[in-house]
Amino acid sequence: MNEVQARQAIVDAGTVLYKQGYVVSNDGNISVRISPDTIVVTPTGVSKGDMNPDMMVVMNLDGNVISKGLRGPSSEVKMHLRVYRENPDVTAVVHAHPIYATSFAIAGVPLDKPILSEAMLQVGVVPVAHYAKPGTTDVPDSIAPFVKDYAAVMLSNHGVLTWGSDLEQALARMEVVENYAKVTLVVNQIGSERGLSQDQVDGLAGIRQNMGLSPIVMPKGNAEVINGTDVIPQGN
Ligand SMILES: [Zn+2]
Repeated sequence: MNEVQARQAIVDAGTVLYKQGYVVSNDGNISVRISPDTIVVTPTGVSKGDMNPDMMVVMNLDGNVISKGLRGPSSEVKMHLRVYRENPDVTAVVHAHPIYATSFAIAGVPLDKPILSEAMLQVGVVPVAHYAKPGTTDVPDSIAPFVKDYAAVMLSNHGVLTWGSDLEQALARMEVVENYAKVTLVVNQIGSERGLSQDQVDGLAGIRQNMGLSPIVMPKGNAEVINGTDVIPQGN
C-alpha cells in the first residue's frame, strides 16, 4: 500500500471503528506501514469518525515525524511503533476501546475459552497486558511480549490493540475480539458451556495452517471430548 492509499484506508477504518461504537470522543488510533521504516498514523485529538486523508502523520519507526499532518501523532503511537519493530510481518495496527473487550481488560480476564471457532481461527487467545501509565514507555513495554505469538492484546483498564498483515486483517481482528468478549459474557451468564475438545482446537489450528496463516497461541481444548451427539436424547 502506498502513502495515498494508506491515508484513505485509515480514514475508512476510522469510520468503521466509530460506527461500531468502538471509540468515543477522540479515542483510538490507526496506523499502516508503507515501507520497512515508515508508517502513516492518525493524528492526536481527532474523532476517528470525522477524519480526512490530509490529516495523517507520516513518521519513521524511530518516532521521528516526516510529515506532521494536522497536529502530530498521538502519544499512543509508541505502541504502534513497538509492534512494527517487534514483528516485521505486521503492516497495520489498530487501537480502540470497544466496551465488552475493554471490560474484560478491566476485569483482568483473558479471552482464552475454546468456545467460538471463528474467534479461534482469527485471533486465538487474547491475553491481558499489565496496566501501564498512558503516554509512558511502559505502554509499549507492556504489549511487546505478545506481538509475535498473538493476534491481539487487551490493555488493562484501557482498551484493545490488534495488528495484522494488512489493515483489513487488523480491523477484522478488532471486531472478532469484541465479538469473542460479548459471546464469552453471554455464555458465562447462561452458566453452561460445551467447549471444544483439544482435537477440535487442533483441527482449527490446522485450518489456519492450510490457509498459510502463521501460528498463534490457541485456547486449550477441554479435556473431555464433546462432539454434540452426547446431548441428544437416545431414541425409545
Ligand atoms: Zn487508548
